Amino acid sequence: SADTSMYKAKELGRNNIQFFRPDMKAEILNKIQMESLLLKAYENKEFFIEYQPQFNAEDHRIRGFEALIRWDSPHYGRVAPMSFIPLAEEMGLIIGIGQWVLLTACHKFKELDTRFDQNLCISVNVSAVQMRDKNFVDIVKNVLDETNMDPKQLELEITESLFIDHIEETIDMLNEIKSLNVRISLDDFGTGFSSLSYLRRLPIDTLKIDKSFIDDLTDKDSSIRIVGDIISLGHNLDAHIVAEGIENSTQLDYLKNHNCDCIQGFMFGKPMCFKDVEALLEKNPLK
Ligand code: C2E
Ligand code: MG
Ligand code: MG
Ligand code: MG
Repeated sequence: SADTSMYKAKELGRNNIQFFRPDMKAEILNKIQMESLLLKAYENKEFFIEYQPQFNAEDHRIRGFEALIRWDSPHYGRVAPMSFIPLAEEMGLIIGIGQWVLLTACHKFKELDTRFDQNLCISVNVSAVQMRDKNFVDIVKNVLDETNMDPKQLELEITESLFIDHIEETIDMLNEIKSLNVRISLDDFGTGFSSLSYLRRLPIDTLKIDKSFIDDLTDKDSSIRIVGDIISLGHNLDAHIVAEGIENSTQLDYLKNHNCDCIQGFMFGKPMCFKDVEALLEKNPLK
């Protein structure tokens, strides 16, 4: 099946000797097969995008949508992004796929903005591999030109993995993106970044609290207090706080009581096709 366990050896690091196990042969063959299917997926138009709504915590008005890639493979069926994005990154294929996601999402968003004019925002996930490509800033510029959208309505979701190496160059590149007036959001916040001292130097507009912290809110243990602290930390950095993965009213109540700005989760809306987005906005004008 399509999973990421085959990449574990690499994660263990270069100096870690991995002994060849018989089942590794199957893993290698699986990986080669997925690589070749992934290579064809783009030209065969097997990718599409779903959009998950984000809401203001206070009044439940729609703030915008997060674009999420989907792969419908004739061979595997639906493949989760977590199963193919790491491979696409390893192959460098994510640069082309990511550019397609960005252009398509912005294009569709501009269509919505023209029609509904609710000053919403579109959030697009960007891989660290994509961002390290020297053409990345130009790609973003071209997409803005081509779609004629307001850059303030575009938010790029980056992850902490971007800051593992070359921190100075990365901050410079983010500042270049900021100079286009595009928003930057730090996704999965709290899961990877060890040094909070860098955080202040990052031109971040939004912090997205990782779902694992939101999950903790339904457990009766001390970690429940962490989310409130993350929200305060984010507000001290003048960031807008989005909580992701909200599934129940216990989580919602806590987040509202701790001044979380925005909420995203199955409780309010699952990722949906573009037609359903249109229906949602039609049904919910300025709600
Ligand atoms: P992410 O950016 O953190 O996206 C949020 C994920 O949480 C999505 O999973 C979404 O469907 C899921 N989610 C949202 N609310 C809930 C909830 O209430 N309960 C549960 N159980 N899940 C919820 P998805 O679509 O499978 O995407 C997984 C990850 O794949 C994303 O995490 C992101 O890191 C990556 N990804 C998705 N689309 C793209 C893309 O276009 N480009 C890149 N580079 N990465 C992408
Ligand atoms: Mg507008
Ligand atoms: Mg995201
Ligand atoms: Mg996330």
